[in-house]
Amino acid sequence: MAPIVILGAGLAGFGVARELRKFDKQVPLRMVTADEGAFYSKPNLSNALAWQKTPAQLVASPRAAIAAQLGVEIVDHVRAAALLPAEHALRGGDGRIEYGKLVLAIGAQPIRLPIEGNGAAAVLSVNHLDDYAVFRQRLAGKRRIAILGAGLIGCEFANDLAGAGHEVEVFDLSPQALGRLLPAGAAAFFARRLEAAGVRFHFETSIGRIDHHENSYVLLDLKGHSFEADLVLSAVGLRPETALAKTAGLATNRGIVVDRLLATSDADVFAVGDCAEVQGLVLPFVLPIMQQARALAKTLAGTPTPVSYPAMPVVVKPPACPTVVCPPPAGSAGAWREEATADGVRALFEDAAGKPLGFALVGAATAGKQALALQMPSWL
Ligand SMILES: Cc1cc2nc3c(=O)[nH]c(=O)nc-3n(C[C@H](O)[C@H](O)[C@H](O)COP(=O)(O)OP(=O)(O)OC[C@H]3O[C@@H](n4cnc5c(N)ncnc54)[C@H](O)[C@@H]3O)c2cc1C
Repeated sequence: MAPIVILGAGLAGFGVARELRKFDKQVPLRMVTADEGAFYSKPNLSNALAWQKTPAQLVASPRAAIAAQLGVEIVDHVRAAALLPAEHALRGGDGRIEYGKLVLAIGAQPIRLPIEGNGAAAVLSVNHLDDYAVFRQRLAGKRRIAILGAGLIGCEFANDLAGAGHEVEVFDLSPQALGRLLPAGAAAFFARRLEAAGVRFHFETSIGRIDHHENSYVLLDLKGHSFEADLVLSAVGLRPETALAKTAGLATNRGIVVDRLLATSDADVFAVGDCAEVQGLVLPFVLPIMQQARALAKTLAGTPTPVSYPAMPVVVKPPACPTVVCPPPAGSAGAWREEATADGVRALFEDAAGKPLGFALVGAATAGKQALALQMPSWL
């Protein structure tokens, strides 16, 4: 019997394997991955300094241990170069990997800004444990860190680095931090808290040029200001990994297009996690991935189960300013209503009748998250 093959060993790939084993302990399961195949929790990368963890200590289960625990064969350091749906096979490494059903859990790629200068190639992005190990090596002995992007990942790294004694400057084209998540008042409170922790923000600008000068970099922003840094980290967003699916003739859009059964345009190929676009939604966060993994596991075990998305608050975890955001369902009409609380901001996104469709809680206001989450509409 051809195995179920899971391509990718991130939270999505391991999530599907773990959930599937709850229903079916026998089906042959093979995981193929370009990386080491160890299990780690990616959200921990952006607060590892605060937790005093080295990259090696972030591994929760080495490959052999997780493979034995889940009854999965893990083929590591093999990058699939082609998907051949008509042959039920992948090509990669030196050979061919056959599957009965295939789960694409291949994640996303960091977006790179078009930056000029001989220092542009040295800009780092962190989207995997391996990238993080390189980042930590390069960080040793460095004082001034520039971060491109004031989104969730940029702000979490900024707080972590400032907390460890680095001088951190963050640049973003948007007029505020967490531009895709927070309304303006909540974002201003959030930015003030991070500034108090040592982070310097530069909004409504971007870095257009980076030059290498002896041991440091000179960054030139779009307003003509220059800044010096010893290390530059880019966190300007991710692009779902679609090339393999697209070349194989599967439907792709922003992500790999799947229906609510997580099936692609080929009935034996599924997609989950950061690479997947479920009914127009690309949600690169842990909770949607867990919902997808639970539903897909049941489908693979013989009970077709559409994924559902209850309201899924995103936790932003810089210690200087805990934040929880439950964005309104995509395309919702309404407006934010913000209210200052003791040491925080509580914001509700309401429709014309005053019905809450989403919320953002910042600082001490995060204490109310559970009660509010229960009132929010489902996304799918
Ligand atoms: C620093 C950081 C902090 C975060 N914090 C949070 C948070 O606090 N809360 C939250 O909800 N979300 C957070 N996220 C997002 C969350 O971690 C991701 O949505 C999630 O980990 C994505 O998992 P994935 O399995 O889809 O992708 P990935 O983890 O990217 O895994 C993809 C896998 O596919 C493999 N692969 C890719 N292409 C191939 C190929 N051709 N052949 C073989 N293997 C291949 C890769 O090697 C890898 O194993 C954070 C992300 C980052 C980067």
